[in-house]
Amino acid sequence: MELKDITFSYDHKNNHLINISGEIDLGKITTIIGPNGSGKSTLLGVLSKHYTPYKGSVRLDGKRLVDFKPKEFAKKVAVVHQKNSAPADMTVEKLISYGRLPYRSIFSQNKKADAKAIEWALNKTNLLAKRNHQLHTLSGGEQQRVWIALTLAQHTPFLFLDEPTTYLDIYYQYELLELIKELNTELGITIVMILHDINQAIRYSDIIIAMKDGQIVRKGTPKQVITNELMKKVYGVNVLVKEDEDTGLYTIPIGI
Ligand code: ADP
Ligand code: MG
Repeated sequence: MELKDITFSYDHKNNHLINISGEIDLGKITTIIGPNGSGKSTLLGVLSKHYTPYKGSVRLDGKRLVDFKPKEFAKKVAVVHQKNSAPADMTVEKLISYGRLPYRSIFSQNKKADAKAIEWALNKTNLLAKRNHQLHTLSGGEQQRVWIALTLAQHTPFLFLDEPTTYLDIYYQYELLELIKELNTELGITIVMILHDINQAIRYSDIIIAMKDGQIVRKGTPKQVITNELMKKVYGVNVLVKEDEDTGLYTIPIGI
């Protein structure tokens, strides 16, 4: 996926993304970090064809996103939004089955392939026992896994997640990050996610993109991006950046 000189505005007065260029590396986990309002969700929205930039273009396999038909694009990219909602009485399996919509048409429906994909998604996210449960009876961590299962049933090479760990306690945060990592290493799914926790970003990402005021400030490996100087510039916070054998790279905020 290739981004070229993207500029985007919600209101045609202020630019909310400014001249963004770069590549999303195939087979990698890329994490976008940056303060509130820096344009992270907007950038993810442009990459997922939700918003169309008024300048520049995004290409997938060499083809501009605007030239993809909706179903064709839905076979390439799946998104877990920051806030997801479904009717309270919806069952887990029913919701996951919506991931198969891009593969259905009024003329054909491959029920066998659909059932297989749903079974596989339930299994992968450890939700087989919950398949007939209603969504609202599940814990926050389980509900997040259901939304990921829906994207797995969609069989896409790209998965985008906007703050997938928000509202989860620390156990479920790591459970979810481990699942995302597994989807990347075992299935080769290219992941782009937004995280707030810098140490989680360091630990789970191949590439980090740091954003501020609608621009990319730096992109590279965690070690290249996470420095005291970058954190001060992007967040206005002083941090210690430490490295040791057991924990790898980590940061400790020490004040503003
Ligand atoms: P982040 O995800 O980094 O917190 P966003 O991408 O949501 O930031 O927002 C970037 C900027 O765009 C903010 O200034 C925000 O107020 C503005 N913005 C976001 N969504 C909309 C919208 N639907 N309409 C108008 N402005 C928006
Ligand atoms: Mg956001």
